[in-house]
Amino acid sequence: MRVVESGDPAAPRSVLVVGCIHGTETAGVAVTRRLIEAKPPPRERLWIMDCLNPDGAAKGTRDNAHGVDLNRNFPWHWRPRYMPGDPQYSGPRPASEPETRVAMRLIERIRPTVTIWFHQPVGIVRAFGHSALVARRFAHLTGLPFRLLPWLSGSASNWQNHRFPHAASFVVELPPGPLSRAAAARYVRAIRTLAACPES
Ligand SMILES: [Zn+2]
Repeated sequence: MRVVESGDPAAPRSVLVVGCIHGTETAGVAVTRRLIEAKPPPRERLWIMDCLNPDGAAKGTRDNAHGVDLNRNFPWHWRPRYMPGDPQYSGPRPASEPETRVAMRLIERIRPTVTIWFHQPVGIVRAFGHSALVARRFAHLTGLPFRLLPWLSGSASNWQNHRFPHAASFVVELPPGPLSRAAAARYVRAIRTLAACPES
C-alpha cells in the first residue's frame, strides 16, 4: 500500500482519497494516479492512496486475501455478516484485517477533513448524515447523481462519520468499466475544488 501526501503540509484542512477498497472496483485508481502525478496544489493538502486492498486487486476479488470484505470490517456497528466464502463476509471480528487497521491508523493520525472512497459500478455519490452536504457538492461537480443512503454496518464511512463527527466521509460509486481520460480529469478537478474549500 502506498499513501502519498501532496500539497501544503501546513494547510489546516485535508482531503484523503482512496482509489480502491474492493479489488474488483479499481476504476478510481485512474483518479488517484492522476492526483499523484499532478502538480501539488499550492495551498491545499491531499492524502492519496491508490488501493487499500492490493491483494484483492491483484487476484481480481472484491475481498482481501482472507476473503473478508474490508468495507464490512470497520468497527462502528460491526456485526457478523455472512460466512467465509461470501463476497460480503464481515470477517470474524471488528477490524480483524490488517488493511482495516492500516486505514484506521492513517485516518486517526491525519484526521482528514474530507475522505472520498471510490467504488463501482452504480454510478452515484452516496452519503448520509452530516457528510451529505459535501457529498452533494461533489456530485454536482462531477455530474453523478447523489443518493442519501444509510451507511452499511462495518463500512469505512460509517466508522469515520461516527468517530469524527466534524469531518466528512462519503462514497463515490463510479460507473462500470474503466474511466475515460476526460472523466478521470473531471474527478481530479472536483477533488481539488473540494480540497481548496472543503466546508462550503
Ligand atoms: Zn465497493
